Amino acid sequence: MADIDAFVEREGDRLVAELAEWCSIPSVSTDPAFLDDVRRSADYLAGLMERAGLDAEVLPVPGGQPAVYGEWLGAGPDAPTITVYGHHDVQPADPLDLWVTPPFEPTVRDGCLFARGASDDKGQVHFQVSAIGHVLAADGRLPVNVKFFVEGEEEAGSPNIDAFLAEHAERLACDVIFVSDIGMYAEDVPSITTAMRGLAYFQVNLRTSSTDLHSGEWGGTVPNAAAALVELLGRLKDDKGRITVPGWYDDVVELTAEERRQFAALPFDQDAYMRTAGVAALTGEAGYSPLERVWARPSCDVNGVWSGYTGAGSKTIVPSEAHAKVSFRLVADQDPDKLAPLFERWVADNAPEGSQVDVEVHSGVRPALTPLDHPGNQALRAAIGRAFGKEPLFTREGGSGPEREMTDALGADCVYIGVMLPEDRIHAPNERLLLSHYFKGVRAAAYAYEEFARPEIASALATRRRLLGR
Ligand SMILES: [Zn+2]
Repeated sequence: MADIDAFVEREGDRLVAELAEWCSIPSVSTDPAFLDDVRRSADYLAGLMERAGLDAEVLPVPGGQPAVYGEWLGAGPDAPTITVYGHHDVQPADPLDLWVTPPFEPTVRDGCLFARGASDDKGQVHFQVSAIGHVLAADGRLPVNVKFFVEGEEEAGSPNIDAFLAEHAERLACDVIFVSDIGMYAEDVPSITTAMRGLAYFQVNLRTSSTDLHSGEWGGTVPNAAAALVELLGRLKDDKGRITVPGWYDDVVELTAEERRQFAALPFDQDAYMRTAGVAALTGEAGYSPLERVWARPSCDVNGVWSGYTGAGSKTIVPSEAHAKVSFRLVADQDPDKLAPLFERWVADNAPEGSQVDVEVHSGVRPALTPLDHPGNQALRAAIGRAFGKEPLFTREGGSGPEREMTDALGADCVYIGVMLPEDRIHAPNERLLLSHYFKGVRAAAYAYEEFARPEIASALATRRRLLGR
């Protein structure tokens, strides 16, 4: 049986050096200047996978950046198949002058690897590949079949993922999608994410007159577009902090008692939370804690408002038009396509008298939720407990990602593993990866493959696969 502790002890420096070399490739997907580097990053990862004993291949994405596919399917058709998801592209590194050491010259200090991509997401992919490499070398086999789908344009918003998944659905087919692009609650609080929120995004355009009007000649008799828009936006939530659009909560899956218990067990310092945000008060839906609101409840934010005159000095007008960007974070099982007409109707019904309104619908993201008692989450709970020497708590994420798209395309649920920390400054200067946490990630991944293969987990996964109709 592979001894993962001894492996990490013995090979730790080599693993970090390998990850550092990968992080020295500036695979910035959003900037065409780095196209060759994204390609080099894909090639580098494919090489790592091959050395770990996987069959790997760089898959071109028409009109996009290459993904990396890897597989080891030697566990046989009766063993579960796990598809690891991550990404090898990174955020731009600017502003460069705020980095203590250059973003693409990876440096170890204070027990951390500093580099763009060290945490998000190369480190999280690397601990998976490292774990598999060790188990294959030591045991000659894995307890489960493993596939990898490592995207090259996640940081650019995964613009081609739907087409990619449709094209490669059969190849990526699995019992569980093992999302390796996530963090934990705190260094001493190992945790497992179970959900991502979705997103519905709109622009509201409001017009009250055919042209701006002189406020001396017209003020007091005609509707004012800026004031009308503010009035409209002011009606979006009631005095309990609930969104007032009829039907908005119809498909919301309520928190279970166990989830509420898990969230309440997390250390949460409300003053520190407010200090981090630089706010003087917390708002939100009555009856829910801040963590419940940000992870498990729908929310609504006005992202921008513009109207009338905003230049220097003064201009005495009644503005004719006003605009706002309004976004909603969604939770399972809300569907942005179903909510858009509800919002359009609400805007039409609530626009102040004398306003013409139209709503532009931007593309949405569907929320994802994997219940706590899902066999994949139970396997992961055991694996992370073993690696971290502490029972993990279940959390959720407030942000939005492509997880639901993958679930629908592959007919499999997502479970989430990742060792990023809130202090890792992902997307910001001085991104880092805490190496002690990374090594626990190597262990946790190796244990997870064992746990997924346990007979009771494997048969529960097979039952679930039949339920999902595959
Ligand atoms: Zn990421």
